[in-house]
Amino acid sequence: MAPALGLFGGTFDPVHFGHLRLAAEMREAFRLERVVFLPAGHPWQRERDTYASGADRVKMLELAIAGEPAFGVDDREVRREGPSYTVDTLEDYRRECGPEAPLVFLCGTDAFARVETWHRWESLFDLAHFAVAVRADDHEWLSRGPGAIPKALWPRVTMSLKDVLGSPAGRIMTFAMTPLAISSTAIRAMARVSASIRYLTPDPVVDFIHQQQLYGSHA
Ligand code: ATP
Repeated sequence: MAPALGLFGGTFDPVHFGHLRLAAEMREAFRLERVVFLPAGHPWQRERDTYASGADRVKMLELAIAGEPAFGVDDREVRREGPSYTVDTLEDYRRECGPEAPLVFLCGTDAFARVETWHRWESLFDLAHFAVAVRADDHEWLSRGPGAIPKALWPRVTMSLKDVLGSPAGRIMTFAMTPLAISSTAIRAMARVSASIRYLTPDPVVDFIHQQQLYGSHA
């Protein structure tokens, strides 16, 4: 069986322990060889641009994962002109990894609940599996049952790790990660009013936010 690669897309504005635990727990659960964090350049579905620059978000990710050889950061979406479409990135990886390698796209339930609105969304499942972490603060997902997943996708849902690791793409698995109701929005709001953001994200990220005075922080 070819080793499986985890691809974790997001804005990471800033990265926090919710992201890091998701990556660590999914890596173990899905036996992923590596997890690559893919910060979005221009998250086209958001009404505004990111708060921190692409370069600063990449730097914070690098600080957060330093010393963890199974994690990496890929800045291709930050470097790419125009909107960041996940399908383009997955096509790149499929080309680079070959047709057999299992690719597993990692995301939280709030992101996956909107998958039907993603650019060329039906092609996504020809390119990768989706491992969806139940997000602690996603009350909507928790109350919607199977309705949380578009009906067209139900046949792809599986409880079997073999289905995922034994094929290159096309299956969906949900995963009950350690509930951590941390969000980048809350961290930015706290930084803005000079409240402590320590223990929500690794110390080097906290220090970087203060040094660069990101999110209106004045350490
Ligand atoms: P914001 O508050 O700015 O919307 P965020 O905290 O949701 O940001 P993103 O960078 O948008 O972070 O998230 C990237 C991915 O990580 C998404 O798939 C999201 O669902 C997931 N995620 C973020 N925070 C958590 C968390 N605390 N628990 C589980 N999944 C999370």
